[in-house]
Amino acid sequence: MPPIFRLGDTMTGEVRPLTTLDPGHLRFYSCGPTVYNYAHIGNFRTFINSDLVVRTAQALGWRVSYVCNITDVGHLTQDDVADASGDDKMAKALKSKEGEAFVNVWDLAEHYADAFKSDWFRMGLIKPLVWPRATQHMREQITAVEELIEKGHAYQTKDAVYFRINSFSDHGKLSGNTNKDELRTAVRDVVLDPEKEHPSDFALWKKDDKHLMQWYSPWGWGFPGWHIECSVMAMKYLGETLDLHAGGEDLIFPHHESEIAQSECLTGKVFSNHWMHSRFLLVDGEKMSKSKGTFYSVRDLVEDQGIDPMALRLSLMAVPYSKPLNFTMQGLADATKNMERLYECARLSSDALSRPDNAPGVASALERVYDEMLEAMCDDMNTSVAIAKALEGTGVIFRESANLGGASAHAALHFLNRVEALLGIRSIREEATGQGDPQEANAETLMNARMVAKQNKDFAAADRLRLEIEALGFEVRDTPTGPVLRRKLSAPEIQ
Ligand code: AMP
Ligand code: ZN
Repeated sequence: MPPIFRLGDTMTGEVRPLTTLDPGHLRFYSCGPTVYNYAHIGNFRTFINSDLVVRTAQALGWRVSYVCNITDVGHLTQDDVADASGDDKMAKALKSKEGEAFVNVWDLAEHYADAFKSDWFRMGLIKPLVWPRATQHMREQITAVEELIEKGHAYQTKDAVYFRINSFSDHGKLSGNTNKDELRTAVRDVVLDPEKEHPSDFALWKKDDKHLMQWYSPWGWGFPGWHIECSVMAMKYLGETLDLHAGGEDLIFPHHESEIAQSECLTGKVFSNHWMHSRFLLVDGEKMSKSKGTFYSVRDLVEDQGIDPMALRLSLMAVPYSKPLNFTMQGLADATKNMERLYECARLSSDALSRPDNAPGVASALERVYDEMLEAMCDDMNTSVAIAKALEGTGVIFRESANLGGASAHAALHFLNRVEALLGIRSIREEATGQGDPQEANAETLMNARMVAKQNKDFAAADRLRLEIEALGFEVRDTPTGPVLRRKLSAPEIQ
């Protein structure tokens, strides 16, 4: 019997079985990035947790329709603390120093959306069914706002169209913010539109004919509020009731609360049957901070510091989604060592394929370890235990390394493949398929020469050697535990 997939549900506050309306088919929406900058490792912690839901469901044999949106308009700087106000994050980014590199705000959005997708692939995340973008679903958003007005759930003022929270008695059911007066106190530092009926009514459409991104609507030129995009895009691709909706913990209120209000008033149906929220990532025990130098994008670590993306992924999974994760360089160094164990296991297992098999117990031992790993993932995605199980499997392989051969070597590689399928941790290099690359030994010699050049502070020689290594189809990553050789990956497909 496969285990039951149990997952925390913010709506009920309980860990309960994740069920699907359509048997064996999970319809899952996860809020994606606002593309005004490179995604940081906190964003990726949340995206990886959604990816792990997809992988666990697939390991149980479910079909998964997974949608992750891209916000490229309408997310304002104060959306998180209050009703929509402040600057549009995209427009603000264009005015910043980094923004000088872009022709216009569309160009900026394109650049960061592409960067996000390539970070996504190098961190080993599964491609969703679709990455819908807010700017490409304007007609649907306008239609939804018109319908909310018709049904009496929204009204127009001189400045905007607002959702009327008093028209939805369930408002606040996700976050527990049900007291309307408390909601009002959550609205801080905001210049209120005097025509608003209730201070906590949130914007569905902002009238603004000066905005850098604007569309013509029944209410004149303007742009949509942040929340409406997720309601319309989730329902367009997945239907009126989702099985699961996810995001980081900061999205519970007001973003997801507002999505529920809009969607349920449009359809009269429950918007999502299960809500999962990832707790935040901290760096050295504190909120990431640019001034303290603890704000890391995936690119900073992978490209500038040469960190193995798989080690980064492993370190971002070290603690289950339901607990805050404290990211440290020590944690990353530990994950790098664990990745080396996995790579070494893959290498020695593939080397053993053509040897006689003297390890008959390996296959069943690894089968048991895999079952326990899947059980851990089904137990509210207990990634700490699942990772420990993956490492326990490497222990089984190392202990029997001298006896591995034939069927047991295959079983070891099969186990590592399943670790990849379930946890997204890739350990099998291409040579494990038996197609060793004769250039690898040359690249290794050059890598060692480069290390010596660096130790001698001959950086010109080190740079030249790096180029020679790249010409052989490899690259060197300087990790905290020393240089590592990697086959250069071809550019991932960008949708
Ligand atoms: P944003 O690009 O700000 O719209 O955020 C994209 C996703 O990352 C959302 O689900 C956020 O909740 C999540 N997120 C933002 N900061 C963090 C963090 N420090 N730790 C974990 N998740 C985060
Ligand atoms: Zn969203």
